[in-house]
Amino acid sequence: MKHILNKLEDMSIFANDFAKELNPNESSAKVVGLYGDLGSGKTTFTQSLAKYFGVEETIVSPTFVILKIYNLENQKFDRLVHIDAYRLESSEELLKLGFKEIISDPKNLVLIEWPEKVAEIMPEHTKIYIKHTEKYDSREVEVE
Ligand code: ADP
Ligand code: MG
Repeated sequence: MKHILNKLEDMSIFANDFAKELNPNESSAKVVGLYGDLGSGKTTFTQSLAKYFGVEETIVSPTFVILKIYNLENQKFDRLVHIDAYRLESSEELLKLGFKEIISDPKNLVLIEWPEKVAEIMPEHTKIYIKHTEKYDSREVEVE
């Protein structure tokens, strides 16, 4: 399904709508791959989603830490795991950070920026494609 976001605030509306319909899997984590160029809004989407799930901590881009885990309170998931694979040189590096355990826990909601980088270890996941448009604060978003 394609969505046109006309301005920055529309991203949080989109994230809220997405979060409302999100439900845990029975025997594995819910994994969402965020596809899009640098500056398209993958981190911004994650920030909105985290806010929806009550995270008060500021969500920063995990580019330099690769993986960050936020504990959620009284939500349908117990943890939001934010991964940025941009700087990874191999999937092995992510496996070393406990990726297999993370994606096997149904209490985890896992958001991965640059999933292309670790395509060979990505489990079945919801794909969100974010694209720039001619207008600088407008985006085209597609969920698959
Ligand atoms: P990425 O993680 O994909 O590299 P970021 O989320 O870090 O991208 O950056 C997106 C930038 O674009 C932010 O500075 C954000 O404020 C800006 N922006 C402007 N309009 C939008 C929009 N409609 N949706 C998402 N981000 C937007
Ligand atoms: Mg980012």
